[in-house]
Amino acid sequence: MSSNKDSTEFDFPEAEIVKSSELFKNCTNIVVGKGNLNADILFVGEAPGRNEDLQGEPFVGVAGKNLDKFLEKVGLSLDKVYVANILKCRPPENRDPTPEEIKIHTPWLLKQIKEIRPKVVCSLGNYATKFFMAKGNVDIMKNQQGITSLHGKVQEISMNGIKFKLIPLFHPAAIIYNRKLESFWEKDMEVVKLEISQKKLF
Ligand code: URA
Repeated sequence: MSSNKDSTEFDFPEAEIVKSSELFKNCTNIVVGKGNLNADILFVGEAPGRNEDLQGEPFVGVAGKNLDKFLEKVGLSLDKVYVANILKCRPPENRDPTPEEIKIHTPWLLKQIKEIRPKVVCSLGNYATKFFMAKGNVDIMKNQQGITSLHGKVQEISMNGIKFKLIPLFHPAAIIYNRKLESFWEKDMEVVKLEISQKKLF
């Protein structure tokens, strides 16, 4: 099976830290991201699942099919957005990420945000939302409000010298189990589209 784990593309400090982790040892591929690197909108999920690990791309499994469908409904597609995750490697059995793993994997995510410079970051689900609400301070993530109270609410975030609007969204996988969340997603995406149509960032 082919793997990108030895690629020389990943010879930079943020990737080296990931490569020193236990999750890296046990994964098939590093899942960096997909979409348009010049996009105004960056979606950030939690972690690669089984399909993402095998294919080396985020959101290619059932949750990914949902994400594609929801993006299409609001007139968006991968050529207009970028999609990445909090973790670059799959946790065994898709278990929740530990604080230590989030600390090890998110410097690479922050590097991506610096490069992409999105106007809006859409955190998908609780982990990504709490990470950004805590301004990247993993130790205070658990004290942050969750997705149920924050979805669709615009937050002005400034972290590591980067400013962007955060708009939390329900995770596309959660919508598989609770179809009622689909209408929230569509309404929340209208908020996202309004934000990116505005010239001024803050
Ligand atoms: N769920 C996520 O959070 N990310 C993926 O890449 C796939 C499923």
